[in-house]
Formats: sequence, structure tokens, C-alpha cells
Amino acid sequence: MEGARGEILASRVLFPVTAPLLREGGVLVRDGRILAVGRLEELRREHPGLPVRHFGERAIVPGAVNVHAHLGFRRKDRPEGGSFSRWLARLIERLPEKEAWTAEAARDSAREAIEAGTTFMAESSPYGECLPQLAASGLAGFVFAEFFPHEIGGGTPEEAVEHIVGRVRELRGGLPERVEAHVSVHAPYTVDPESSRLAARRVRELGWRLAIHLSESPEEVEFVRDGTGGLKDIFARNDWGGVGLSPVRYAERVELLGPETIAAHLATGVSEEDVAVLARTGVAAAHCPRSNEYLGCGVSPVPLMLASGVRVGMGTDGLWSSPSMNLFEETLAAVRLHGFDGETGLRLATHGGARALGLEGEVGSLEAGKWADLAVVDASPGAGPDPAREVLEAAAGGGVVATAVGGRFLHDRSGA
Ligand SMILES: [Zn+2]
Repeated sequence: MEGARGEILASRVLFPVTAPLLREGGVLVRDGRILAVGRLEELRREHPGLPVRHFGERAIVPGAVNVHAHLGFRRKDRPEGGSFSRWLARLIERLPEKEAWTAEAARDSAREAIEAGTTFMAESSPYGECLPQLAASGLAGFVFAEFFPHEIGGGTPEEAVEHIVGRVRELRGGLPERVEAHVSVHAPYTVDPESSRLAARRVRELGWRLAIHLSESPEEVEFVRDGTGGLKDIFARNDWGGVGLSPVRYAERVELLGPETIAAHLATGVSEEDVAVLARTGVAAAHCPRSNEYLGCGVSPVPLMLASGVRVGMGTDGLWSSPSMNLFEETLAAVRLHGFDGETGLRLATHGGARALGLEGEVGSLEAGKWADLAVVDASPGAGPDPAREVLEAAAGGGVVATAVGGRFLHDRSGA
């Protein structure tokens, strides 16, 4: 922990992300915030006598911002992939058994994310069940409490929505400074149109944020358009499909799309017209390419979304659909899939996520005034053509040696 006057964290290379990389760069950290960023020599001159912690031949980058994850899953017994609806049916069968280990899985997933350089985590879990583990981990983040109206005792959509709003109010009591609770309308096939619309309106009134899963699988596209297929009646009776629209158009009709909404996946069945709807409504996207691949969900049109001005961040999803909680590894998969350069990748993993969550004034880059959320990566790119890619590859491959949230190191094997 830095002293009262702060300390300078320095390394051979530093990526502010919103400014060009710095050789022999440093960040001056005080009270958890970044006070200044610049060349080490200048920081030393302007702040004489401050302690300097130099990480050597390494890179300092902003911490990863994971905009869509589920903490409560574990790697060892994930259901078979290939088909989204079959995978989801296995998941539902195992919900009773899962209760016994969800908390442990959430602790382990959060720890894995921290050790891979993540500093901000947007987590979705039923009724916010993984909030205690997120709050205890030291990460900054949001929990999106998912609600399932069919479970809320035969009531009306109004009652279901008041139930989840009440639950989120409860969760908001006594949280750490940088952890918040919000609402998730789980998906078009689990939450009926009226509950979706009312929940979105309540969230807007309250100034909260909203998470949804949207246009994830071929089965979801079929359910919304035709009312048939593998997601028909999967959790409980759902008779509201068959509206002849794409999931994106349907979500717009039930008022789910707006600047406070983060829509996960947008993988299957997103047309050019749909992307125009996303851009017009100001909704943000969470891109989870490894989960999409595992579950047979196609490829999200991320280049078109970015070109259309849609805010895009990266998400790992949970360990039952994704091989790791390492957001830099997820991002490297996206870089390969879409042919992005390293700079675009590093930006998606950090500043892109912060923008998607409406937090670009607080996190996502190394800039004066923001939280000192950062990762130290065992990479020291020289004059190569794509230094950011070198750092991304190292971070993806287990090369994060230290992670700090608000200037506090939660992980440190740097030896510095
Ligand atoms: Zn998800």
C-alpha cells in the first residue's frame, strides 16, 4: 500500500491505452487514484522524494474490464458443448446439485480473474447470488441480479419486477465502495415481454443498469421468430415467442435497449439492420467469442458494430461455457477471429469495457483522476510492429505478474 504522499509504479513500457505507449513510464498513485502518468524521469523531477516501485522489464497496462461473466461455475465438469439448447438443458438439470458448490466456484473464478489481470468484473447470477464472493474478492464490479418471473409464485409481471427491484435494494446495503448491484433481464426465452418491459422501465427510473443475454443462439432466434425449437418451454412454459422478429427487434419492441443496457453475445442472427438498431438505441455489447464457439452460437459481427459506433467490451462468460476467466485470453481469441491488431484488442479489453459499462470516467485507461486499476505483464516489447499484441499474448498466456485494484495489490508475484 502506498504511503500518504503516494508512490510511483514504473516499468520499461507502460500502455495508458488512451495515449501512446511510454518507454520508462510511471503512474503516480495516491489514495487509490492515479494522480499523474508520464515518463518516470519527469514524474521523479516533479515529485521529488516519492518512493518508486520499478517492475523492471515488464509492461504496465490498465486492468481488464470483464463486462459479462458468471462466477458460479467450475471448470472440471462443464456440460458438453456444440448445441446451446442441449447445454442449457443439462445446466438446468444440475441446478439442484450446483447449489452445494456455487459459492466455492465463485471464489475460485474471481481469484482466477484477478491473477489474470482483471480489475473490474460485471457478473450475472440468479438473484445476485454471487455478490458475496465478488465483494470479498477485492475486485471492483457490478452484480446483475437475474430474475425468472415463473419462479416468483404465480404473481403478475408487476409483482415479479417489484420482487427483483426489492432484492437489488437489499443487495445494495453495506457493499464495498466500488461494488454495485443492478438488474438482469436474463433472456428473451426466460422473461416474458411484459416483465421485460416493466423491468427496463423501473431500471431507468432508478438510474440503474440493465444486463441481458441477447441473440445468443440459433435456438433463441427460432424461438423469438417462430415460437418453436429447443428453447420452447425449457425453464417453464413460454408462449410469447413466434413474433416474427429478430431477437434484437424484439428487444427493442419490449424497451430493453438503451444506453444503460449491456447486451451479452449478439452472436447469432444479428443482421446489418439489427446493428443499426443497436447503434440507434445506444445499447452496449459484451463480446464472448470463446463461449459462442463452444456452444455453437456463431460469430458476433463485432467489426460492423464497432464501425457503427456501438460500444463493445469483452466478456469471458462462465466456466461452463468458457475455458478460463482470463479476459486477455478471451480478447486474444477475438483478435484472431476478427483480424484486429493488438492495439484494438488491448483497447477492447480495457477502455472498451469501461465505455460499455458507462465507466470511462473512472476506469479502463491509465489517466490522471481514474482509479489505479492496473496489471503488470511479463512482456517488454521492443521496436516490433505490434507491441500491444506482444503484451496481450503474454497476458493471455499466464504472464500477469501483479494486479492492483484502486492501488491495492491483490496479486503480486513480481518480486519487485
Ligand atoms: Zn451469460
